[in-house]
Amino acid sequence: MDKKQAFSLWYMLLALVLIMVLQEFIDSRQTQTLSYSEFKQALAAGKVDDITLQPGLVTGRLNADGLEQVLPAARVEAIRKTGGEHRFVTVRVDDPELVPQLDAAKVRYAGALESKWLALLLSWVVPTLIFVGIWFFLMKRMGGGMGGGILEIGKSKARVYMQQQTGVTFKDVAGIDEAKEELMEVVEFLQHPERYRRLGGKIPKGVLIVGAPGTGKTLLAKAVAGEAGVPFLSLSGSEFVEMFVGVGAARVRDLFDQAAQKAPCIVFIDELDALGKARGVSGLGGGNDEREQTLNQLLVQMDGFDTNRGVIIMAATNRPEILDPALLRAGRFDRHVTIDKPDLNGRRQILEVHVKNVTLAPEVDLASVAARTPGFAGADLANLVNEATLRAAKRGKDAVDMQDFEDALDRIVAGLEKKNRVMNAMERRIVAHHEAGHALLAELREHADKVSKVSIIPRGVAALGYTQQLPTEDRYLLRQSELLDRLDVLLAGRIAEQIMFGDVSTGAENDLQRATDMARHMVTHYGMSETLGLATYDSQPTPLYLNGVNLPERRNCSERTAEVIDAEVRRLLDEARQRVTETLNAHRDALEALAGVLLEKEVVDRTGLETLLKAHGLHSAHEAQAGKPT
Ligand code: ADP
Ligand code: ZN
Repeated sequence: MDKKQAFSLWYMLLALVLIMVLQEFIDSRQTQTLSYSEFKQALAAGKVDDITLQPGLVTGRLNADGLEQVLPAARVEAIRKTGGEHRFVTVRVDDPELVPQLDAAKVRYAGALESKWLALLLSWVVPTLIFVGIWFFLMKRMGGGMGGGILEIGKSKARVYMQQQTGVTFKDVAGIDEAKEELMEVVEFLQHPERYRRLGGKIPKGVLIVGAPGTGKTLLAKAVAGEAGVPFLSLSGSEFVEMFVGVGAARVRDLFDQAAQKAPCIVFIDELDALGKARGVSGLGGGNDEREQTLNQLLVQMDGFDTNRGVIIMAATNRPEILDPALLRAGRFDRHVTIDKPDLNGRRQILEVHVKNVTLAPEVDLASVAARTPGFAGADLANLVNEATLRAAKRGKDAVDMQDFEDALDRIVAGLEKKNRVMNAMERRIVAHHEAGHALLAELREHADKVSKVSIIPRGVAALGYTQQLPTEDRYLLRQSELLDRLDVLLAGRIAEQIMFGDVSTGAENDLQRATDMARHMVTHYGMSETLGLATYDSQPTPLYLNGVNLPERRNCSERTAEVIDAEVRRLLDEARQRVTETLNAHRDALEALAGVLLEKEVVDRTGLETLLKAHGLHSAHEAQAGKPT
């Protein structure tokens, strides 16, 4: 039933009840109630004109002339007041003589059945209506929390947020040019789908945008829609997962139906991880059926969707590692765009976008603001500009000056530090030297992969900085020399900290874990330890159904061999430490210089790194390798 219709029906019912009640009320005003004895007296005196007999009542009309002789004066007065008809009503008592008396007095009388409808209405229909009304009201209330109301379960209309025009274009997105470039193709497809169709080109179906909160994932998706001039349908992954089983799946179906109607368009699913967590990881009991059903439905819909209709599904997450692998397979979210937190230059550009409509004092230097905001995401920078503007307004200034930015910075940094997202000066120094150590070792070791980028921009919670190494080719085999060099690179971060500060930090946990795993693998799987020889020692995997349950590790070797394995792992790590310490001590100046550049610029790319090495009389081991046959 349509909502509007339902409404007018309600009004009609209400009006009907009102009319009936009113009529009854008016009737009662025009009728005088007599006692039965009064009625009998009036009858005996011949003052009754005609009556109607009902099972419980007698109603009729009186002849008012000379009534005073029969009835008390007050009663007669009241009867006269009822108007011309002098109607009366009286409650019937068991009186078998009534009919003979009426016959004798020649009063016209008729029988009538008591009208039951009003009683029926009041005693039965009205309470029912009230109950139904309350029920509707409650359902509406419940529905308010969940979306479309209980009658609209599965309709995602209420939750899908649709914008015909997002009003955001690539101009509004700054500092993430690589991501923009990758998405340019999507824009072009949405603008000229027929061109692609004719050429039979393969269009991405799903694009996954990966990045920390506030880095502009939603903004970027909106900008793609805005650039292409297509509608933007968005909703959040967490909203799919409902309290009723099957609702999420219905929502997904409905979402895709809507998208098909609006095509060409962009469907944006925020927080994909809420919906797309790997199936069957939530414990022993088989996990969350509802979420799995929803996820399965999403997979089915994406598979059945023909890209040529011009619908592109975009999704955002900051935890790609927990997504169900099925989501990332070809034909689903197979295109990945990563957004990092902006570097110095990026931050300046983002600030520029956000101060566009702000009056700045001439001395405001956005570059220096950018320099003071390492670790800020786009949203933090937007917030900073906003805060500074508010402060200026509060003080009645005409323009936002540097002092406002300083104050706003102090406040926001304090907030972010609480959330552990901004490093203090000492932490930055440690991270810079740590990463410089990794990078330098990777460059100096012939068999390590070469470095493409070093950065001390924090990435997520775990990594405070990172050194990106690109293998030159796909590898299927690794030689022992390569594994040893990798071990060196892994340990170099920690050792650089040790050399430069005489102290170490917790930042190397992941490095050490990886190095240990690698050394153990070399010993137990690859036969790379002389002491243990060529035997492999497998520690048996824990059965899947006991995942997460703490069991003592089961070994297929003797206690004594296990001790030897541990000693060998230890030896490999100690030797690597020895080598790395020597190398880094020998090139301490280069290490310090690289850390210095990192502190200043936050990111050093391949060219910057090569220049720096040359300046210190060093060669990248990878340059020398270039012409060499493998
Ligand atoms: P996410 O979806 O990654 O959490 P949003 O896209 O919601 O982040 O970003 C929040 C706000 O931060 C945006 O509306 C915008 O004002 C600002 N912002 C984030 N990144 C950028 C950027 N690269 N350029 C300009 N503004 C940005
Ligand atoms: Zn490290």
